[in-house]
Amino acid sequence: MTAYSLQNVLEITDGELHGEKNAKPIRFLSFDSRTILAGPETLFFALKGNLRDGHQYVRDAYLRGVRTFIVEDVPDDSGLTEASFIRVPDSLEALQKLATYHRNRFNYPVIGITGSNGKTIVKEWLSELMAPEYKIIRSPRSYNSQIGNPLSVWLMDEQFNLSLFEAGISRPGEMEKLEKLLHPEWGVFTHLGQAHLENFRNQRHLVQEKLQLFNRSKHFVFCSDFDELQKAVDARKAEGWNANLFRWSREDESADLFISEEERQKDGSQIKAIFNGREIEVFLPFTDDAYVEDGIHCWATMLAMGYEPGSFESRFARLAPVAMRLELKKGQHGAIVIDDSYNSDTGSLLNALDFLKQQAGNSGKRSTVILSDILQSGIPDEQLYGQVAEYLALRKVERFIGIGPKISQHQELFPLGDKAFYNSTDDFLQHLNGRNFHDEVILLKGARTFRFDLISDMLQEKVHQTVLEINMSALAHNLKVYRQKLKHDTLIMAMVKAFSYGTGSTEVARVLQFHGADYLAVAIADEGVELRREGIELPIVVMNPEEHSFDAMIENRLEPNIYRLELLKDFEAALRRNAMRNFPIHVKLDTGMKRLGFEREEHLKELVAFVQSRDTIYIRSVFSHLAVSDEPVEDKFTEQQFQRFDLLSKIITDGFDYKILKHILNSAGIERFPERQYDMVRLGIGLYGVSSFIQNELQNVATLRTTISQIRTVQAGETVGYGRKGVADKTMEIAVLPIGYADGFNRLLSNRAGHVSIKGRKAPVVGNICMDMCMVDVTGIGAQEGDRVIVFGDEVPVSEVAETLHTIPYEVLTSVGQRVKRVYFAE
Ligand SMILES: *Cc1c(COP(=O)(O)O)cnc(C)c1O
Repeated sequence: MTAYSLQNVLEITDGELHGEKNAKPIRFLSFDSRTILAGPETLFFALKGNLRDGHQYVRDAYLRGVRTFIVEDVPDDSGLTEASFIRVPDSLEALQKLATYHRNRFNYPVIGITGSNGKTIVKEWLSELMAPEYKIIRSPRSYNSQIGNPLSVWLMDEQFNLSLFEAGISRPGEMEKLEKLLHPEWGVFTHLGQAHLENFRNQRHLVQEKLQLFNRSKHFVFCSDFDELQKAVDARKAEGWNANLFRWSREDESADLFISEEERQKDGSQIKAIFNGREIEVFLPFTDDAYVEDGIHCWATMLAMGYEPGSFESRFARLAPVAMRLELKKGQHGAIVIDDSYNSDTGSLLNALDFLKQQAGNSGKRSTVILSDILQSGIPDEQLYGQVAEYLALRKVERFIGIGPKISQHQELFPLGDKAFYNSTDDFLQHLNGRNFHDEVILLKGARTFRFDLISDMLQEKVHQTVLEINMSALAHNLKVYRQKLKHDTLIMAMVKAFSYGTGSTEVARVLQFHGADYLAVAIADEGVELRREGIELPIVVMNPEEHSFDAMIENRLEPNIYRLELLKDFEAALRRNAMRNFPIHVKLDTGMKRLGFEREEHLKELVAFVQSRDTIYIRSVFSHLAVSDEPVEDKFTEQQFQRFDLLSKIITDGFDYKILKHILNSAGIERFPERQYDMVRLGIGLYGVSSFIQNELQNVATLRTTISQIRTVQAGETVGYGRKGVADKTMEIAVLPIGYADGFNRLLSNRAGHVSIKGRKAPVVGNICMDMCMVDVTGIGAQEGDRVIVFGDEVPVSEVAETLHTIPYEVLTSVGQRVKRVYFAE
């Protein structure tokens, strides 16, 4: 990796130097003080985002050893004596300038990949497919934004000879900037769909913007069956765009690659095509339409690049269908397994190590890495493993296990104390078992040939086939969606009561903490104690504090919701008993819900007098809850609640000279009454991806899925299940699923009231749902035993299930049985 001197950076960014004139050369870029590793060699960019102002974190970065900063305002903090500040008008622009400068030092081709879906898959696959011929640097997982791309480009180096970068945009104007930065010689456009349209007038507008990435490209590969894309390409051509086009199509025989025949088989798809007047073919090891399309994008790109049509068969055979993500699994003995056995290059290693650090973070568990030989890196072994060892040291990995002949040969490069090396996965499995790992977060990262799935199986708790999958990236996305609807200084209390609406407490809380939630709220003290035990540091409110748990609450810094004076008196006595002073409490007002809360002015005055007379407590916030924030016809009532809240909360705030936070909005409230956000909002259901008003902005978080246990044929007239309720009116194929009402699959969904999704098709429930099993109709779907079944998730929205059940999504989510394992992943 190249280093840049302070002088270089000054010149490139055209900035103005303040403070210290001598600084170490920098090798790393950072804009997030939490993930800084080698402080003295890091250049910190104080970015003014729409969520946070990076200038607030300059001091934190300084404490982590950073001495060189790019800022828009030089801080007047006298403690930062050794810092060099480079002042620029726009820090993000400076980051892009520096990255652009770096990118332009290299002449090898860059392939730029954009589209609505499939960018990451196409990028990952191309990098694997072309690995035998090229030394490839590619953007880590989802580093595809305005900030991610400069960081990706920063990884470019002399030792490579091809780059693959993916570019995503969320608003107009962004692609032009990425074009300057990436300057791709080759362009690939993947699937065009409806994703990410929010800030664009329509699909055409989005396509036109995306094509800007290829303004100076020499070659462009795309599928002309996407009408809007073909039209936009024609329009660009008419304006004089001179890229060589390579078109593939399933409809147009004149395309460069015409897909003439596709046959889905048991374990893949045979694709035939006409290319240069000849019939050629390839076997893709997928049957899913989206993967097949992504595979064809790769095939087309490589043909366009001059690969021989005959050279594909064995290449594609090795591609893995999924695993574009880091999976988090519960291990035995308190271990957590991060399963990333998909690939093992250094770029994705960096990303996975960051994830490891985040997870190990304050969970109090140590961090372990199990890594295989890194194949086809194109870098000399000595240098490669030296670099890996450096990464591990920077991330303070505590335990390391290397598997493979190459990495074992270079074991002296790894300075860690706790390290072990094995020649093969078998060798490892013979020596170690689940008992050798406990209370650690284990990153498993290996090239596919090493079969790390065997290690993953060994380390994991045994799983029932029905799981609730939680997408942590979607959770973070949803948090951000609401954050953007609020003023930058409004706090967010994330509701994690009832196991985070069924999705699981600690894991979800950890993600929320990492992504900047300000407060958490649980229903009962036990939930809060559990969060503290797992290392969650955020302030936590307990909505239903019970007397028997007061000591535990005080010990764990859990702040009570106070809804009547007697409760406060009891809690205050507990504080005195524990010799506590200045403990925060939250006062609940009833403004119309008629549930918990102070309703009468004289009671509030008593409360104020009581708190004023004690030094054990102080009021952190005063709040109320809306009864009908999601029902526009009731807005008059909501308005009355707001007015009542203003009146009652004033009695509290007037009683003290310190700042007391006010809050009343829940999710629907934020969506509909942002002008009433006061100092904080309480975000619940929206975080988990459900809303009646902004569903299209949110991402699905929880997917309840299972697999088919058995398939059988039922003849006309036969019946299925208890009570013989499922009568076949014709020959039917029935799939048995290992999920029943005890798992939260409500029995009211029996007899075709509900359905599941298999291979993207609806399969209605047949007969009565049993306690642990149910049967669904898969006639004509071509389902097989072992196939994946979605009970709810993207394809079967929770809100739809709720409607069938005449209930609300909250109940469907929180009804998923505790025995259903929660598995977490980040994209
Ligand atoms: C559950 C809860 C919320 C969150 O409501 P959502 O509709 O899920 O956003 C907010 N405030 C209180 C007091 C709650 O109990």
